[in-house]
Amino acid sequence: MVNYLEPTSFMYVTGHLITAVLEKWSVEKYAADIQKAGLILPQTPEIIAITLIKAFGQSLKFEKALLGEVFYFEYVGIKRKDTRDFCLEHMGKTFHLEEIMKMNNGELVPCIIFGGGWGCHHYWEPVPFYKS
Ligand SMILES: [Zn+2]
Repeated sequence: MVNYLEPTSFMYVTGHLITAVLEKWSVEKYAADIQKAGLILPQTPEIIAITLIKAFGQSLKFEKALLGEVFYFEYVGIKRKDTRDFCLEHMGKTFHLEEIMKMNNGELVPCIIFGGGWGCHHYWEPVPFYKS
């Protein structure tokens, strides 16, 4: 078994993410691929797969917004019975990029890409005409 947090393991999972997205793998296929690698993971392969696919999309959305000089983002998504405190606190509110960069979801992954953390269903939506 290889520790997921080692660079080679991280490169395996994220490297296969690009393949998964480009070849339109299902979450199940990507999760099975992650499982097959025999890595020690911080979450189940399914949670890893869902989270990284979402993170990939969120990253592209940020890059696109910044190219358009959009710096404000609203935290959006639905409330569920297991919604994290971080998400409840930020849902429906708009923040400047610099504020988001300083946020801490307590899961050692950046809020700007991962929102509330592993398996979070919330995301940052650009707000082009926001007046602070
Ligand atoms: Zn969330």
